[in-house]
Amino acid sequence: MNIITRIIRIFVPSYNKKMINIVLFGPPGSGKGTQADLLVKEYNILHISTGDLFRYEMGNNTPLGLKAKEYMAKGELVPDSVTIGMLENKVNANPDAAGIIFDGFPRNIFQAQSLDTFLSKKDTMVTCLIALDVPEEELVKRLLNRGKSSGRADDNDETIIRNRIKVYNSETKPVFDHYAEKGKSALIHGVGSIEEIFTRIREAVAASH
Ligand code: ADP
Repeated sequence: MNIITRIIRIFVPSYNKKMINIVLFGPPGSGKGTQADLLVKEYNILHISTGDLFRYEMGNNTPLGLKAKEYMAKGELVPDSVTIGMLENKVNANPDAAGIIFDGFPRNIFQAQSLDTFLSKKDTMVTCLIALDVPEEELVKRLLNRGKSSGRADDNDETIIRNRIKVYNSETKPVFDHYAEKGKSALIHGVGSIEEIFTRIREAVAASH
């Protein structure tokens, strides 16, 4: 934190309000995007989806977008060297956010460690990780269904979908334990109505801070 921010924090009490930083976690198709929209309304915080950021770059055919496309098309993770910088830029571009929902990030242990270091330099941290638990067959069904209207190539092919779930299980799932060791992870039953699931999430967030 720079010296000016420190001085402001001393004299303007509202500046000291703790950020609420929520990692919204779960396999592809678990409903993170839907629930993120509701969290944004409830807590008035910023939503950062790395998947959306990549799709925006791809849509504009930027070098970053073209790079990301190679991996996304196969259902693989985009390299950390690309992903982490992009995420940090987005956070840095919103210095006044009251908190952040991280959706699709961190997706492996290295990204989690990078996020912890990055946030601690800003005198803040991950408040909680909310994991949506949904059975694999339900995920595949939801994603194939989304593929009919979303135009997302990675939602139209069952082989790619299964690979995304495989990558989630091997690389991403350990991030749950990383935050569970700090007492910050909550597992939420992700099947039910959107409102029911949101109520479960709201209770878990309230219990975490
Ligand atoms: P979903 O969670 O439904 O798979 P996303 O929109 O979150 O969809 O991500 C789509 C794709 O973008 C992923 O399959 C992956 O290729 C890439 N991606 C998104 N976030 C990350 C990340 N944090 N690290 C690496 N790759 C990512």
